Amino acid sequence: MKILVINSGSSSIKYQLLDMADESILGTGLVERIGEAQGTLTHKAHPGTDAEAVVKLEQPIPDHGVGLQLAIDLLSTGDNAVCNREEIGAVGHRVVAGGPFNAPVIIEESMWPDLTETERLAPLHNPANLGGAKEAAKLFPGVPQVLVFDTAFHQTMPPHAYMYAIPYEYYEKDRIRRYGAHGTSHKYVAGECARLMGKAVEDINLITIHMGNGASMAAVKNGRCVDTSMGLTPLEGLVMGTRCGDLDPAVHNYLAVNRGLDVATIDNILHKESGLKGLCGYGDMRDVHAAVDRGDERAKLALEVQTYRTRKYIGAYTAALGHVDGVVFTAGIGENDDIVRAKTIEGLESFGMKIDVEANAIRSKEARKISTADSTVAIWVIPTNEELAIAREALALVK
Ligand code: AMP
Repeated sequence: MKILVINSGSSSIKYQLLDMADESILGTGLVERIGEAQGTLTHKAHPGTDAEAVVKLEQPIPDHGVGLQLAIDLLSTGDNAVCNREEIGAVGHRVVAGGPFNAPVIIEESMWPDLTETERLAPLHNPANLGGAKEAAKLFPGVPQVLVFDTAFHQTMPPHAYMYAIPYEYYEKDRIRRYGAHGTSHKYVAGECARLMGKAVEDINLITIHMGNGASMAAVKNGRCVDTSMGLTPLEGLVMGTRCGDLDPAVHNYLAVNRGLDVATIDNILHKESGLKGLCGYGDMRDVHAAVDRGDERAKLALEVQTYRTRKYIGAYTAALGHVDGVVFTAGIGENDDIVRAKTIEGLESFGMKIDVEANAIRSKEARKISTADSTVAIWVIPTNEELAIAREALALVK
């Protein structure tokens, strides 16, 4: 079966078509600037192979429906077609916040009230994620539309990990609790790590660190998530590109009272003007490193704050798990940035975590172990593959 995976953002659509017979990627692409005067679409047929063909389009793309139609046309018609449209047996959609949904679902009409309700939990992401699913349903009548929620993997957290210590009624009436995010990625790399260690995921405990522009960690005990760093929304936890992560909630009130800022402005500051960007002006870790190399003290501080926060979470999750078999780094920074990995693990020798400097310095797209032979906790770099994970979830449901 061929499965189309869609990650629909507010003005973009990422897509990938996979042949699940061998899990190969038949085509992939990115539609951007939807709704602007000029949109772009970059499409690759047979990416990464000798047969790779790249198509670039520049034209107005007024809405997600038009963007998706263009992508499907490129996948299924013309010189670079990689499939017949009828062969697409399911469409898998990434959805950031699932609220009460604790597993992937095939969309049914009756679910829409509950699905719409989840939009409050991730107002930047969910309306676009679910909007993409609506458009795909129109373009593929009768084809199962599978929603794979970033929160689902974290639904095994026990109440002591997901409850906030605020009046209980806000949990009961408003469902305010910790949900986490990036669950598809945490689950995928935990499974890969177990496979690489030659163990069943049910037999080991892992700390997974998804560190990209957004960043989160999970404590995974015997294959089940028991804690994660993001909360009600993807704002809590680690220091991110532009998001503050953990913060005294009183800062909100302080800014309102002392600066006269309104709620929307403060929310925007904490989501888009904080994190690495807030500390040093650069939200992209590569720019932070370049600034550090120029002797920029604020960039040095940003790097220290970011890696210290992550290291503290490793300590916390070691306590949550009791025993740790492996630590996994993944996503843009986790997979590529040896400096951040080394600084994060610095000083954790007494936790049994030691980085092998040479192994850590190797640049590769492959999964690799970066701990020393005498490190009792194995430390890994494992590229995440959320599209494949979503396609596998969709296939399992459709079957
Ligand atoms: P993601 O959100 O997973 O795409 O990750 C984006 C983050 O990864 C940005 O902060 C990038 O600076 C960082 N990143 C991507 N490639 C590299 C690299 N080669 N070295 C260091 N950081 C990188």
